[in-house]
Amino acid sequence: MRTPDERRKILRERVASWARRLNVQPRQVRVQRMTRKWGSYSTAGVVTLAADLADQNLDFQDFVIVHELLHLRVPNHGKLFKALLTAHVPAWQTYQRTKAKRPTPTNESAAKR
Ligand SMILES: [Zn+2]
Repeated sequence: MRTPDERRKILRERVASWARRLNVQPRQVRVQRMTRKWGSYSTAGVVTLAADLADQNLDFQDFVIVHELLHLRVPNHGKLFKALLTAHVPAWQTYQRTKAKRPTPTNESAAKR
């Protein structure tokens, strides 16, 4: 099990390397506990990632990171967004399903359903 600091470091480094490749610059990268999503993006340029994304496989991490970073260029999920996503993460549709499964059901959320 990784410590919160390790997770933050892992994700920040991955974001930094993808930001260079995609030629974008998030104003801020936050890594925090998120239970319903893996990542989010605000129009103010803040990318937020779920801390436990650091424990997922690398391809999935890249998919979530690239998705959020691409929003710095394209604010929606239209044709251009999908084309860019396909260019950088060709198998993104596979990960899309994994992403949609969030949250991992816990007793609490299962009871609420
Ligand atoms: Zn999105």
